[in-house]
Amino acid sequence: MAPAERNLWLQALSQLDGHSGDVPVPPWLAQARLDAVDASHLAVTLPGAARAADVSAALRSALEQALEKALGRQVALEFRSEPASAAAEPPAVEPAPLWPERWRRDARPPLNPQYTFENFVTGPCNRMAHASSLAVSDLPGRAYNPLFIHASVGLGKSHLMQGICHKVLATRPQAAMMYVSCEDFVNQFIASIERGQIDEFRYKFRYLDVLVIDDIHFLADKDRTQEEFFHTFNTLYQAQKQVVLSSDSPPHEIPRIEERLVSRFKWGLVVRIDRPSYETRVAILQKKARLRGRDLPEDVIHYIASAVDSNNRELEGAVIRILGYASLCNRAIDMDLAKEALRDLVVAPSRVITIQNISDAVLQRFNTRLSDLQSKRRAQSVALPRQICMYLARRITNRSLEEIGAFFGGRDHTTVLHADRKIQQMVGHDPAFRGLVEAIEGHVLRP
Ligand code: ADP
Ligand code: MG
Repeated sequence: MAPAERNLWLQALSQLDGHSGDVPVPPWLAQARLDAVDASHLAVTLPGAARAADVSAALRSALEQALEKALGRQVALEFRSEPASAAAEPPAVEPAPLWPERWRRDARPPLNPQYTFENFVTGPCNRMAHASSLAVSDLPGRAYNPLFIHASVGLGKSHLMQGICHKVLATRPQAAMMYVSCEDFVNQFIASIERGQIDEFRYKFRYLDVLVIDDIHFLADKDRTQEEFFHTFNTLYQAQKQVVLSSDSPPHEIPRIEERLVSRFKWGLVVRIDRPSYETRVAILQKKARLRGRDLPEDVIHYIASAVDSNNRELEGAVIRILGYASLCNRAIDMDLAKEALRDLVVAPSRVITIQNISDAVLQRFNTRLSDLQSKRRAQSVALPRQICMYLARRITNRSLEEIGAFFGGRDHTTVLHADRKIQQMVGHDPAFRGLVEAIEGHVLRP
């Protein structure tokens, strides 16, 4: 449709919003096409599955009035359905400023107010991720698109992504932005199908300036949502709208996800956050204590930083624990108190745990041998302990997927990932099994 008609149509729609009284305005109307038939007749071609019968008499007359007002003359509208072939294509993108204001207010993302750039400590482990997040929030859609941040759990992905959101909200209050966990995206999609409101879902996610989806690896196995997300992504990308994604692994290591998505994830910038160094851990601890209005003594900070090196969430957990313990016992914070408070959290520092340590501990509980774990045998009696080893190696060593796979008889990284997910699920569902795995882990950490 010509730009003039497009503008006219969008103008009429924005008139409707808030002025149409009780007349519901379906979101797919924004995707409809307006064409002049003659001086007093206009044709409205409806998108996708929408039919002329879906347009109520009240809505028709509200639209005619709005157009009349815009054109200064009486017009009659004729509604048509889009031909099937055209309907299959993803809808074109509307300029974001024409979004209904009502929707925008409701859609403010639920952000953690603490997850700002100001509260984010940078170090060599996350400098790249931090710098690219800043760049993206300064120039959404222009700097890197998509921005793909990956890291294992607790290393600051969600914090950084919400940092982007906070900054965009502060500098571009009019921007249409959405932050969702991937799980939420999937659930909303399913709910929209069940309610027959798929167009609403599309409207919500495709007409954005910035879309931030956290933990995108959750798309694994969700074929229909992957398909939908593929179109969401394309629509936003083509319109140069910013997409930011996070995941627990790099694009090509996300299991059971379509190749065309993996390749798109790599179109922009892929950055990884590593575990923080000792210095960064110290800085994070100081920051977390100060955010709670406290300063921890230097020796206590150093004690925690050497004892807790798995992830940043645990650093924060340690701070919370010490502060809580101190106020509970009404004692000053010193080394004695810190040691007591963290007694069961702390692992003897500086002992490097190897894959061999893990397999030793696992083999004590299973009736099998290392040579079996490293063989090609796939019987359950061998496969399960092998998978537990892989799972624990992912958690408590810094070995890469490839290195772990190599240790267990030259298996490739997808096998390790599969094992990791499988044990993770079993641990989640079966308390007895979780007890076993935790006991083995405890044995590795405190032999
Ligand atoms: P992820 O999403 O990667 O699992 P989160 O973003 O939820 O991790 O981070 C876990 C916790 O650690 C949060 O409380 C977060 O504020 C904190 N955190 C992580 N990285 C940093 C950092 N670089 N500076 C300050 N806090 C951090
Ligand atoms: Mg997270």
